[in-house]
Amino acid sequence: MSEESRNFIEQEIDKDLKEGVYDHVVTRFPPEPNGFLHIGHAKSILLNYGLAKEYNGKFNMRFDDTNPTKEKSEFMDAIIEDVKWLGADYEDRLYHASDYFDEMYENAIKLIKKGKAYVSELTADEMREYRGTLTEPGKNDPNRDRSIEENLRLFEEMKSGKVEDGAMTLRAKIDMASPNINMRDPIIYRVAHMTHARTGDKWCIYPMYDFAHPIEDAVEGITHSICTLEFEDHRPLYDWVKIECGYENPPRQIEFAKLYLKNVVTGKRYIKKLVEDKIVDGWDDPRLVSIAALRRRGFTPESIQKFVELCGVSKANSTADYAMLEYCIREDLKPKAKRMLAILDPVKLIIDNYPEGQIEELDIENNKEAPELGSRKIPFGRELYVEREDFMEEPPKKYFRLFPGNEVRLMNAYFVTCTGCVKDENGVVTEIHCTYDPETRGGDSADGRKVKGTIHWVSATECIDAEVRLYENIIDEEKGVYNEDGSLNLNPNSITVIKNAKLEPELAKSEAYEKFQFVRNGYFCVDYKDSTPGKPVFNRIVSLKSSFVLPKA
Ligand code: ATP
Ligand code: MG
Repeated sequence: MSEESRNFIEQEIDKDLKEGVYDHVVTRFPPEPNGFLHIGHAKSILLNYGLAKEYNGKFNMRFDDTNPTKEKSEFMDAIIEDVKWLGADYEDRLYHASDYFDEMYENAIKLIKKGKAYVSELTADEMREYRGTLTEPGKNDPNRDRSIEENLRLFEEMKSGKVEDGAMTLRAKIDMASPNINMRDPIIYRVAHMTHARTGDKWCIYPMYDFAHPIEDAVEGITHSICTLEFEDHRPLYDWVKIECGYENPPRQIEFAKLYLKNVVTGKRYIKKLVEDKIVDGWDDPRLVSIAALRRRGFTPESIQKFVELCGVSKANSTADYAMLEYCIREDLKPKAKRMLAILDPVKLIIDNYPEGQIEELDIENNKEAPELGSRKIPFGRELYVEREDFMEEPPKKYFRLFPGNEVRLMNAYFVTCTGCVKDENGVVTEIHCTYDPETRGGDSADGRKVKGTIHWVSATECIDAEVRLYENIIDEEKGVYNEDGSLNLNPNSITVIKNAKLEPELAKSEAYEKFQFVRNGYFCVDYKDSTPGKPVFNRIVSLKSSFVLPKA
């Protein structure tokens, strides 16, 4: 591969391997188990996993569970499911940062003994005041020069439970005048009398992220610790910790830009509120972009991989369009999904010259573009359902579907000529009538006669009723994501529930997560939550057409 076609992280890794900094590659995905993973995390997962694979290296899955307040085991299970589903195979390399608490503690002692860490008694407010600003240096902590013995004794007190939350902290002794505020004697341990999900009450001191993370990486032998841009300013501290703690062949941090989707909500705080306010039916509501929601909506791992690939890896922040994600799932399903007949807004079509009570079976290919998907039989009879919009009593120009006197093709079936309609007292069409030409079975005329319109249909007596849901963005895109008061600008039409769509009978057998094209209407997926055996509920993944054009690489 040429150098230009390699992203900047690959170029850095190539260089490290060439220069002998490392002779192998180990990457990791380190989520904090405090919520569901979203499309942005998918990028991080696939990037780290992809690099490990590319370089014949290893990929670690690690829960960054150093913070005892937020961890929830339900999130851990969900995260594991998502990572596996995305195809990032971590084999048996599942780790927990909390397993390294002993090693982190030993490192803290080591730093104290080297005169590189001290116990502070500043309150949080004082700490802020002493820290200085971007333009002014900080002030030294009054206890910065405590003796090593004193620091060891006080740190022991912190550890043994004698110190109240917030009364003492352990700070790294670096440089209060550093232009980088992260280097102004950052806190590396705090007191928190809290029970940890894995270590229970063994600890009442917990390491801070900036201290814990490089140690976690070093313990696991990570070579390239890839994280998002907001950690760039923390890199000097990352390096300080790994060097002062004396790790050999320590990991290297490389930052890339986060993936953002335009007009999409990813913030945990907002999603939590949507769930609590019952605006969505959980963290996996198909209108959200958590990985679980995308899976429920019907996205495939392949489509998300493709999307992440198209977004690319860079140092510059950018936002992608949801339409690009839609493009990816369409491309993925086009050759894979069976094309089925389903009527979303049904009205009856009655063929007056077709024998009453007769049902015949017609052959239909499952996917014209993928002959290997085979064919199936669909029942046809005198009474059908068609889409309401496929009939007009007084059509405008260039309307080639059903109107009195016009002949159209019923997909894979017969040519029919519309003869008229029946309306109720409100003028709503309740039945369309037509006659068929028995010589056109399969959808072609023997005499070479052409028709301009082809419409889909289902047998009114053999079809099944099903709930089908159509979605729009949960955000009102015209107005942007947030209101002035910080609340979300919700789109009141983000879900349309069709209670009695009419589907060809074959679809009764479909199973959770199965995906189909409903001809002319889009791609649909069987909802795993609300479907019952024989009674599937379908969510529209995406419509068939879009104005989206793939950006040039
Ligand atoms: P959020 O607050 O959006 O849920 P987070 O950064 O708090 O995200 P973590 O569990 O800490 O969530 O993240 C795990 C990994 O995923 C980190 O390495 C982080 O950099 C990465 N990550 C998080 N959000 C994105 C994003 N939008 N794009 C790419 N990577 C991301
Ligand atoms: Mg985080």
